[in-house]
Amino acid sequence: MSKQLRTICNRDCPDSCSILAEVENGRIVKQRGDRAHGITRGFLCKRGNQYLDRFYSPNRVLHPLRRKPSGVWERITWDDALDLAAEKLRYHMSLDGPESILAITYSGIKGLVAKSKWHIFWSTLGVTGVKGGLSAEAVHAGQALDFGGDCAHTMEDFENAAGFVIWGKNIAITYPHSIPFVKVARKKGAPMVVIDPVACKTAKQADQHLQLVPGSDGMLALGIARQLIKRGAVDQAFIDAHTVGFEQFAELTRAIEPDAVLRATGLTRDQVEALTDLYATCKPLCTMAGLGIGYWRHGSATIRLIDALAAMTGNIGIPGGGVFTDTSASDGLDLRDLSHPYPRKLRLPRLGEEILAAHAPPIKAAWIAGANPAATAPDTNRLDQALSGLDFLVVVDQFQTASSNHAHLFLPCTTYLEMDDLVRAYGHHWLGMCQQVVEPLGEARSDSQILEQMADRLGFGQALAGSTASWTSKLLGALTARGVTPERLAQGPTPNPMRHPVAFADKRFKTESGKFEFVTDYPCRPKEVGLDGSLRLMATKTIHMVNAQINERDLRDEALVRAHPQTLLEQGLLNEQRVLVKSSVGSVQARIFADETVLQDVLLFNPAAWRGDLQGVNQLRESIMTDLGNAAAMHETQIKLETVAG
Ligand code: SF4
Repeated sequence: MSKQLRTICNRDCPDSCSILAEVENGRIVKQRGDRAHGITRGFLCKRGNQYLDRFYSPNRVLHPLRRKPSGVWERITWDDALDLAAEKLRYHMSLDGPESILAITYSGIKGLVAKSKWHIFWSTLGVTGVKGGLSAEAVHAGQALDFGGDCAHTMEDFENAAGFVIWGKNIAITYPHSIPFVKVARKKGAPMVVIDPVACKTAKQADQHLQLVPGSDGMLALGIARQLIKRGAVDQAFIDAHTVGFEQFAELTRAIEPDAVLRATGLTRDQVEALTDLYATCKPLCTMAGLGIGYWRHGSATIRLIDALAAMTGNIGIPGGGVFTDTSASDGLDLRDLSHPYPRKLRLPRLGEEILAAHAPPIKAAWIAGANPAATAPDTNRLDQALSGLDFLVVVDQFQTASSNHAHLFLPCTTYLEMDDLVRAYGHHWLGMCQQVVEPLGEARSDSQILEQMADRLGFGQALAGSTASWTSKLLGALTARGVTPERLAQGPTPNPMRHPVAFADKRFKTESGKFEFVTDYPCRPKEVGLDGSLRLMATKTIHMVNAQINERDLRDEALVRAHPQTLLEQGLLNEQRVLVKSSVGSVQARIFADETVLQDVLLFNPAAWRGDLQGVNQLRESIMTDLGNAAAMHETQIKLETVAG
């Protein structure tokens, strides 16, 4: 007999799709997108459609494992595993203090109940936590200065746009459920310009693709702003009433000569003019900015310049406008448990060197859950070294990963098909519940359960006790009075009724001044590359990957890189030749392909993972920090190529 049950895809993806899973005799035979969900609209991406391969993969770890002194894993019971973990935590807390234990998590735990329990558990113990990240943190920090928060409209509001500027965001791959909304506006005549150094899938669907020199986004924004001011194509009423700092911003733009913009960006005068025209004449203009903007040393300052273009043209606080990066969509939620303090925090983008450098006390033990930093953080070789020196490392995951290479204990956790939790999307404004569709495979347990059972052993079980429904009820805070209750969410996802479809429609910004605050400084000039044969390392997401997660069958047998034919010629390389890609922190052997769509100063890794090497492209990336947000400047690394004999 078959039955259909609803859950939410809680992988690290902005779309948080509502899923209908068909179960026959206790086995999921099919899952599909929920037609009743206003964003999912009945379709899943390829990663979602192929998820059952991952779910039922023979490589999935389904029992707790302990590493024997010989290095081989052995199966143990949950009781033995959790007793051992508790004993080790107690030992290190009494020997070197709680701060000698490092608790590492990132975007892999998306359920708000599990997240709350994570922070309560580790802050109660007083361990070292992590800060910053590998994603949109620089962009968030920049927008916090401009707006006091994100400037995301609801996804549904994209339909109201008269035009789109998609800046460093490959929405066709990373934000697929936005496409139908964009298409509605496009059918009404809205033009779409994509600004991206990579000829990505979204660029192919655009009216115009501005393939600028990597990292020159800020110069382009300044150049456009200067032209808009010169033409008088600004919304003076908005600027006067709702902003501060415009005069200093205008002064900043005057320092940038138009020719300097062309040199920096590699774009033609006509291309820059066309974009200026779009900003000058198209309203409401919707900007979508991606991680690509923030992956530079001056990532925060760069998004602030892009925000400034939207503000000076009055595209803020109106339907169809805004600058969408992503959204916390937390209006009305009670998220106090997510902000429990830690006595010390290490920066995620520099985790390897910060673990090695930590003293008073040094880091002796770590617990990793909802993260795989040894593949997703920069300079993974250093992190590998740091993790290999720990006395005790626990990894909670569904598969063995680069991070579990040096683990002493592996605890298998559940997926969105086997657990209950409250999920808030970061690409739209809908809330929903992960709901258990089948019994957990093998002995997998949810992160919530594992933390609860650990807290029991460490003497504060009460702090994490209670049903998922009671935790959800608490988290829903003011929303319960608006009808968003655990019972309501069990029926299916619902939009957050406290989130206005248009960000800052009331023009009351959350900054100190209460107004939009213009950026008044931009220190960045694009760095010279190519003079000594170096190339910029870029790696973009593919439809097969969710960060480091990729199905076995989608892995290539070797690393593949692409470069412009002229680059191959200049470097004396042949198409499909094997090369050694070297950065200052690592090297990788790869096969190189000539590709005319790749810019001449760029080496493009796509995909960023391959068979037999769990660390992937991040073993080449240097741990360079962004200006704000403690984020990783992923695109700043430069590499050189060498031929490989034979
Ligand atoms: S990965 Fe994203 S788009 Fe794909 S099914 Fe999951 S939430 Fe939906």
